[in-house]
Amino acid sequence: MNIHEYQGKDILREFGVSVPNGHVAYTVDEAVKAAEKLGSDVTVVKAQIHAGGRGKAGGVKIAKNADEVRTYADEILGKTLVTHQTGPEGKEVKRLLIEEGCDIKSEYYVGLVLDRATSRVTMMASEEGGTEIEEVAAETPEKIFKEVIDPVVGLTPFQARRLAFNINIPKELVSKAVKFMMGLYKVFVEKDCSIAEINPLVTTGDGDVMALDSKLNFDDNALYRQKDIQELRDLDEEDPKEVEASKYELSYIALDGNIGCMVNGAGLAMATMDTIKHYGGNPANFLDVGGGATTEKVTEAFKIILSDEQVKGIFVNIFGGIMKCDVIAEGVVEATKQIGLTLPLVVRLEGTNVEQGKKILDESGLNITSADSMADGAQKIVELVK
Ligand code: ADP
Ligand code: MG
Repeated sequence: MNIHEYQGKDILREFGVSVPNGHVAYTVDEAVKAAEKLGSDVTVVKAQIHAGGRGKAGGVKIAKNADEVRTYADEILGKTLVTHQTGPEGKEVKRLLIEEGCDIKSEYYVGLVLDRATSRVTMMASEEGGTEIEEVAAETPEKIFKEVIDPVVGLTPFQARRLAFNINIPKELVSKAVKFMMGLYKVFVEKDCSIAEINPLVTTGDGDVMALDSKLNFDDNALYRQKDIQELRDLDEEDPKEVEASKYELSYIALDGNIGCMVNGAGLAMATMDTIKHYGGNPANFLDVGGGATTEKVTEAFKIILSDEQVKGIFVNIFGGIMKCDVIAEGVVEATKQIGLTLPLVVRLEGTNVEQGKKILDESGLNITSADSMADGAQKIVELVK
């Protein structure tokens, strides 16, 4: 789960990690009031969306007085920001962070992720802050320093100090940078983060080290014990189809192609998408209905696929192991009865109760193209949506 920058900064503040003062605003008037409350010479108006790259896209503006705050707030609120992380459709701005302007000396990068190769949380830092860290990683990887963290010991002050020296934090600010990193690590662990990224971390004219941006992601599997984090969820930022899918515990991710996929098992779902691509098609979604799906769940899954207007055809690819083919078939028939189906449908069933499944589909009167294998099915659906 993802949260907004201002929410992340509230959490950082709670853990003693230094951030500029700021307030959230939902309207232009609230923005102006927030700026008056801050009373700083320079105020920054920042679009709050679940994506980075806002600065370059015009979503971060520096205001020198209340009139400018009003102008920028008016300009940014309601605007659809397109950044390298939003996709071409962009994201509409519904909230702003009104923040104290900061006298930036230098910008750095600090991030924490779980490194799956070492199975350990790793802190990364770089002198090249403010820019896209992916670019730094691709072009000058030697400028990114890493510390692998022992889960029992945690991040040690020694490791934090080594990172601070490696990224050339001025000597007199190293102890503040260490405190910052230790606090960030504490947030990561105690809040069950999957990513904690500060880009940029800055040093300021009056000798502070603070987070100017904050990106915190949380492990969905830990949300049951992070009730306060759950409350920060902003459904406006999520694809409505994905929100609907999560109600039924379906693993669904919307993509931008036109072939809807209904598959059981994450591995088979990935392979199905690859195969569709291989034959020149484009999947509209990733969908794993899981092992123990009921007819109701399959029906909902089918409805979600059909609610995507881009979908021009559907490929059902089921290997019945725990999941039974007849349950899938019943779900497909039930969903099409409820909402009608005019699109081409290719079905490949294999495994437990495959004969019953095929019979249900045959007797349904639906216009179904059956396939003998994954490759056969993928070729057929790619042909049909052309
Ligand atoms: P994004 O990563 O989405 O572009 P950031 O929060 O990193 O958004 O802001 C982009 C840039 O705007 C920062 O690198 C920094 O230079 C500037 N900036 C952001 N917040 C402030 C602030 N409070 N004071 C001064 N400059 C800021
Ligand atoms: Mg940033």
